[in-house]
Amino acid sequence: MKYVGAHVSAAGGVENSVKNALDIGADGFALFTKNQRQWFAKPLSEKNIIKFKEYMQKHGFSADAILPHDSYLINLGHPETEKREKSLKSFIDEAKRVESLGLKYLNFHPGSHLRKISEEECLDLICESLNFAIKESESCIFVLETTAGQGSNLGYKFEHLAYIIDNIKDKERIGVCIDTAHIFAAGYDIRTKEAYENTMKKFDKTIGFKYLKGMHINDSKAKFSSRVDRHHSLGKGEIGLDAFKFIMQDKRIDNIPLILETINPEIWPQEIKLLKQMKNEESNV
Ligand SMILES: [Zn+2]
Ligand SMILES: [Zn+2]
Repeated sequence: MKYVGAHVSAAGGVENSVKNALDIGADGFALFTKNQRQWFAKPLSEKNIIKFKEYMQKHGFSADAILPHDSYLINLGHPETEKREKSLKSFIDEAKRVESLGLKYLNFHPGSHLRKISEEECLDLICESLNFAIKESESCIFVLETTAGQGSNLGYKFEHLAYIIDNIKDKERIGVCIDTAHIFAAGYDIRTKEAYENTMKKFDKTIGFKYLKGMHINDSKAKFSSRVDRHHSLGKGEIGLDAFKFIMQDKRIDNIPLILETINPEIWPQEIKLLKQMKNEESNV
């Protein structure tokens, strides 16, 4: 089974995300459980939580297929203690929101050193933050996203994520999300079958497919290895359609949410349809 969907809006109530996913023919989705540009929000109301769970069940969505994303403000590796602590507090709050909705995952970007500390120092701070967040929450699995490496963002090398996982005490609570546009911009090619297999082999060797809890399915406006994060609609960017077919036919990538963050939500229904067709096509490799 492949859960294909998009990062849908939860405006007007978290339960609306389920309807928005349904409207585009998705069997999984991503969402923000609060305004992604705010540090804190009032807790989810009991009414919203009940409705969300009710809609999920009614429309047959499994928690395995949902990949909530945290706020863009959070930086678990912030070089300044005060700002890192604020991030961590907000992050734990996000984990609790996810848990209250009966969901499993919280997808986030590892962190940024802001050119004030070394990459390794920043990675160590991220590990420390994560171990604390795991202790302060119940069950949420924290899903590290691969990044394009724009600015001082870490996570543009599989080794960064492997280093973090290595230093997490409870490995059941940590996972990884591959964003195709990000890895491509970071220098991992997936455009041909050979390049794709090579990249996935590196992923498996460095991190391991057992940690793969989701993928973001995006084409890239930015060139290969450019370290620039610019998403594009499928087939319109530098990656091209073949890569997405390799993913859809890859059995190692079953039973996890595959989430579009492509730039034109109006064509998400067609993009979802296209991906599902790719899965069913005869593999010509
Ligand atoms: Zn992200
Ligand atoms: Zn992403």
